[in-house]
Amino acid sequence: MTFKDLGLSQALVKAVEEKGYTKPSPIQEKAIPHILEGKDILASAQTGTGKTAGFTLPVLQRLAETKHPKYRPLRALVLTPTRELAAQVHDNVREYSKYVDIKSAVVFGGVNAKPQIATLRSGVDILVATPGRLLDLHDQKAVSFKRIDVLILDEADRMLDMGFVRDINKIISFMPTKRQNLMFSATFSKDIKKLAEGILRNPVSVETAPQNSTAKKVTHKVYKVDKKKKTEFTIKLIKDNNWKQILIFTRTKHGANKLTEKLIKSGISAAAIHGNKSQGARTKALKNFKDNSIKVLVATDIAARGLDIPLLPHVVNYELPNVPEDYVHRIGRTGRAGAAGEAISLVCSEEVEYQNEIEKLLKEKLKSTIVEGFEPTDTAPPKRAATQSKGSFGKKKRSSKGGSSNGNTPKRKPHFKGNKPSTSGRGRSSGAPKKRHD
Ligand code: AMP
Repeated sequence: MTFKDLGLSQALVKAVEEKGYTKPSPIQEKAIPHILEGKDILASAQTGTGKTAGFTLPVLQRLAETKHPKYRPLRALVLTPTRELAAQVHDNVREYSKYVDIKSAVVFGGVNAKPQIATLRSGVDILVATPGRLLDLHDQKAVSFKRIDVLILDEADRMLDMGFVRDINKIISFMPTKRQNLMFSATFSKDIKKLAEGILRNPVSVETAPQNSTAKKVTHKVYKVDKKKKTEFTIKLIKDNNWKQILIFTRTKHGANKLTEKLIKSGISAAAIHGNKSQGARTKALKNFKDNSIKVLVATDIAARGLDIPLLPHVVNYELPNVPEDYVHRIGRTGRAGAAGEAISLVCSEEVEYQNEIEKLLKEKLKSTIVEGFEPTDTAPPKRAATQSKGSFGKKKRSSKGGSSNGNTPKRKPHFKGNKPSTSGRGRSSGAPKKRHD
């Protein structure tokens, strides 16, 4: 099967060939023909599967085929949860649209809105955006959704986790009801299914990997190590193995900063990426990591979600996530594009229960190792058991706690509690949660 066989035009085939793609990935093979036919799609696909080209190529083709000779209203909108993902998707859109007369743009928060407004006013066919900034721009009348033909929700599960459901529904309320809808999500919770039911019409389901499955080539390793020794152990791992490119996850922004500082002090180049960093710092950290000018990127879950870092050999969980699905997302960053990868977790006594839950989800026991000189001595009880014994957190509550404790953004719309965003532009921005990535 070739890109041409899927029905893509010569202009698009040429652009993907220049990217070096020789054949469509499974998700592309499955999704592109349906999208070209104008069908709605509900796709289960993680980052790394080629899903971005899977929706961008056919959408570009449809836009190019139906272009008005004079006007350039906004006809396609891609919503993404994070700024980084928006920038990354837009980079792809630009590359794939090199040989078609389609203009694209990206808008997200944390940067000056003025250039974004100017670009939008100059006419854009396809826009990639994070929901918060997009609504602000809509409130300012810098963008209209009246002519939208295609809506793409990328990483819909993460958008829900980040409390964007209200913003998404509001954005949709400004669109024509007759349009094509494409939804991509790595996981399918009840909430996602509900959102899909509300938005999609007779969608074709496209699956590439079983739900919550991890990349086959990833090996999981657990090192049992005391909490206070984790930094020292991380430094040892990186130095002893002479690793060149490592993505490390911490649960909190503060933890990410602290670890980054210590790594730098020990002579390992590193940068942190999380919601409290300025957009400039986040972009720079990611760029430096991708081009190997720094060895380590320390990230919180939400900041790292959806980042396309090809052939990442090592992912280290400095702390285990307390939402087991986040483990799957984290290690989705390694073993990409068929390459082998290693997911390493440092587990202290407090995290044993998190490990159990991850193993349950993966249906696989993670092999634990103890390294000489780092033998664990702590006997602190598992964190969750400790909290539960106080009777303060049931299973359900735990997941919303998990969302906020990653230090980035509250899960399950807690920010609307007592802080309802008003419908006016001003009210919305000032009422919106400060922590949110928009
Ligand atoms: P994505 O899942 O969209 O983030 O894509 C993951 C990576 O795969 C990106 O670096 C793409 O450039 C790359 N990619 C997408 N489609 C193909 C393909 N058909 N062949 C090889 N690489 C691809």
